[in-house]
Amino acid sequence: MKRKDFLKLAGAAAAGPLLARCRQAPEAWNEASGETAVTVKIFELRLRQAWGLSRGTWTTRRNAFVRVERDGVAGIGEAAPIARYDETAESAAAFIETAEPVLARDLREYAVRFGEIEALGPGEHAAKSALDMAVLDWVGKKLGLPVWRLLGLGRDKVMTTTYSIGIDEVPVMQEKVREAAGFGVYKIKVGTPDDRKIIEGIRAVTDKPLRVDANEGWKTKEEALEMIDWMAGQGVEIVEQPLPAAQLDDYAWLKDRAKVPIFADESLILPSDLPRIAPTVHGINVKLMKCGGVQEAVRLASIGRSLGLELMIGCMIETSLGISAGAAVASLFDYADLDGNLLIANDPFRGVETVGDRLVLNEKPGLGVEGDLF
Ligand code: MG
Repeated sequence: MKRKDFLKLAGAAAAGPLLARCRQAPEAWNEASGETAVTVKIFELRLRQAWGLSRGTWTTRRNAFVRVERDGVAGIGEAAPIARYDETAESAAAFIETAEPVLARDLREYAVRFGEIEALGPGEHAAKSALDMAVLDWVGKKLGLPVWRLLGLGRDKVMTTTYSIGIDEVPVMQEKVREAAGFGVYKIKVGTPDDRKIIEGIRAVTDKPLRVDANEGWKTKEEALEMIDWMAGQGVEIVEQPLPAAQLDDYAWLKDRAKVPIFADESLILPSDLPRIAPTVHGINVKLMKCGGVQEAVRLASIGRSLGLELMIGCMIETSLGISAGAAVASLFDYADLDGNLLIANDPFRGVETVGDRLVLNEKPGLGVEGDLF
């Protein structure tokens, strides 16, 4: 045998097992799939302090949770239903139950399953989000990968979250700011007749940057413009949802005149809203519970970015389960408002950690969440 041919053969022999190893998926990934067991549970969350928005005040919230078990691996997800979007814990739980036939199919095809869940019916975005979370958690655990890595994302980008201050008497709001001294930016809930007093009161106890959220609380474009311009002089750097979502023309009017960037929250639910909303605001607040989950939030970030919008990832009052799912994709966004778990006194889960105001993802597979609700 010529030396050249020998080397070729030796090379092929050495490369063979290596190539075979590269092509091999994790053993568990290829295991035959059995039956799927779906468990749904509604759990009442107690809030640390009353949570006041322009549209109401709450001391408890009822969220729905799902556990999807298949092949000895369990994925979990959370729905934080919102009355503003015609959702309750019961309607979310009922929707999750209708998805059982979809969950009985191959969960490794998670993108296909998401499309099938979406097609089950309109609305119920919080329930769809719970299902998407549970399936991705399952896939990550099956592969032994954190969801953020599964989606091609990293965890090196420093992601900080704002801390939200609900509407209350001004001294109570001041106390909430003092207690949250570790945060670098506060998100102040406004949209009341006393908004100037609220911002002046907050300014008396902190000189940190503020973002405000009126939750559709101002009613005319003139009122909104006056408030926004006054707030610009008070160190407010973002104004969220100043007017009711239906007043699209007023948003376009405000965008041309306001001194502070305006973000859409209630106005923006699904990617299909973007062509209509994008020309009227500077940025969007994407929430898993509005859009239907992690996969749809990634799509919203991608399309929003291509339309030149600034991107915020937000949340509802969610446990560490929902917040960990949001944090998994937060590196795609410019701003994070992922503090819902910090407002809960009886969070049954542990996942992403908030250190100071920094969101720290862990390396555990799936959503990296531990807890004993089920
Ligand atoms: Mg908001």
